[in-house]
Amino acid sequence: MPRKPLQVSRRFFLAASAALAARPAIGAAPASGPVDIVIVGAGAAGIAAARKLAAAGARYVIIEATDHVGGRCVTDTHAFGLPFDRGAHWIYLPDSNPLTKLAPRRGLDIYPAPPSQKVRIGRRNARESELEDFLSAQVRTTRAIADSARKADVPSEQAVPNDLGDWRGTIEFVLGPYICTKDLAQVSSSDFAKAAERNAAAFCKQGLGALLAALAQGLNVQLSTPAKSIDTRRTVTVETAKGTITTRAVIVTVPTNVVASGGLRFTPELGHHEIDAFGRLSLGSYDHIALELAGNPLGIESDDLIFEKSSTTHTGAILANVSGTPLCTVDVGGAFGRDLSAQGEAAMIDFASEWLAGLYGAEVKKAIKRAHATRWNSEPYALGAWSSAVPGSQFARRQFLDPISDDVWYAGEAAHETLWGTVGGAWESGERAADAVIRRLGPFKPSAPAPATAQTEAAPKVKPKRAQAERRAPRHQASPQYQYYGDTPSIMREEPR
Ligand SMILES: Cc1cc2nc3c(=O)[nH]c(=O)nc-3n(C[C@H](O)[C@H](O)[C@H](O)COP(=O)(O)OP(=O)(O)OC[C@H]3O[C@@H](n4cnc5c(N)ncnc54)[C@H](O)[C@@H]3O)c2cc1C
Repeated sequence: MPRKPLQVSRRFFLAASAALAARPAIGAAPASGPVDIVIVGAGAAGIAAARKLAAAGARYVIIEATDHVGGRCVTDTHAFGLPFDRGAHWIYLPDSNPLTKLAPRRGLDIYPAPPSQKVRIGRRNARESELEDFLSAQVRTTRAIADSARKADVPSEQAVPNDLGDWRGTIEFVLGPYICTKDLAQVSSSDFAKAAERNAAAFCKQGLGALLAALAQGLNVQLSTPAKSIDTRRTVTVETAKGTITTRAVIVTVPTNVVASGGLRFTPELGHHEIDAFGRLSLGSYDHIALELAGNPLGIESDDLIFEKSSTTHTGAILANVSGTPLCTVDVGGAFGRDLSAQGEAAMIDFASEWLAGLYGAEVKKAIKRAHATRWNSEPYALGAWSSAVPGSQFARRQFLDPISDDVWYAGEAAHETLWGTVGGAWESGERAADAVIRRLGPFKPSAPAPATAQTEAAPKVKPKRAQAERRAPRHQASPQYQYYGDTPSIMREEPR
């Protein structure tokens, strides 16, 4: 069925631009020896950094706390026996997105997302004139926030026009929790205004996490190895649950909330500005409540995105029939989503089924087969969904252009000024950090045979000059203790059912 042209594009309101990075070749990880760079975290930023470092011939290892790669971009094939992206699913700006460019040609189907959204008003779909009102209210609100950001970085809520009428709740949900993971009162107007357009999008049928995991193939990753602390006093060392690694530089990619909550310690302690930046760029709340709905009881098309016309932000967004499967997700976020998630998975599933029944009729509840909800705020190595700057804090993203301490760089979605909250932004940030380390420590010589005790071997410490404006990065080597990441991580494996 052709889509109505008037439907509103997802995230259309954010201003445009996107950079992209060069394609790195993954070099084979050396068999053993000292490590020049430790990357903490195997999410998009860590994987991107590792690929760059490998291509430059550097000796690196990625230390990952969980038993799988991908971080907040991971595909779960267990919960439903279908690809279920627990975190990121939308590939924004696919024409310039590094992941689309690097995706293996075989085995992954990437296709354009429907260009529009729908709105449900009670038990019916919005009419065209109503969609026009919705679109116009979004445009006016987006402009008002951008205008106010030109004067001062204030809470976005302050700029919301007073005349949105009965669209106010929906607009506040879409622009706040849905885009920024926080209610607009907690979102910096400058951060909102600077965000890059996320209008065009694509999906990967096998899951965006599967795509990312494919890009991690061949990298030197040590799973189930949480980093506890980083010490840069004499030599640079990373203390992990499995031993201490001596290195020349570190790229930290763990989510801001993990650092802000003390989940990774630094000796000497980070400076006031650096610590402050992690708090200012806190992750908000966003979760998928996934329902397997037999027989398409919502009567909607594959990958339809639907909002509810709601008087409050206590609402959700539906992504229906994901990639043509019976999987639908009800997404919740912001303060409401946080409270709901704190009540546990059963409460989340109850909310989603009651809410859907209110919009599509009680029969929907009977069609629900399996159900599962993510709870990112409770994941110890995430502690939230994605970053949005608190009011007055947009400047903090630039803080991460410099090393956060001697020989330690920070990368990740929070470190991207315009593509924050996206996998593409995390990827670019990881590459940027790797480039900075390469400039600082490179060029790298072909790796010489090295002792098999990389975890305790002291790499020669070179104290380079402090970088001025960007991060710089180094090289790697694996010891026999390091697991080579070659297999699909367990969360991605198709188990016999
Ligand atoms: C529900 C949800 C939906 C989303 N939807 C989209 C979307 O549709 N499109 C999009 O582009 N983006 C989306 N995002 C955002 C996107 O997932 C993130 O921006 C991106 O994946 C972040 O990558 P990263 O490398 O910065 O961090 P992460 O992916 O969080 O990687 C950090 C890694 O560090 C590890 N780690 C943490 N602490 C330690 C430690 N002490 N030692 C070792 N390892 C550690 C973590 O386990 C993790 O693997 C979504 C996020 C969520 C949660």
